[in-house]
Amino acid sequence: MVQQTQRDGTTWYVCEGCGMMFDLKVDAEDHETACDHEEPAYIQ
Ligand SMILES: [Zn+2]
Repeated sequence: MVQQTQRDGTTWYVCEGCGMMFDLKVDAEDHETACDHEEPAYIQ
């Protein structure tokens, strides 16, 4: 899920998986589609 957050009076959209921030929701959603955070291979 893309998280919405406020910083310095600006709305940011944060990839819940890796924490990357975007100023455009569409960019965040596009990233999240490609982000492989769903199945982190390095956990335990
Ligand atoms: Zn991500």
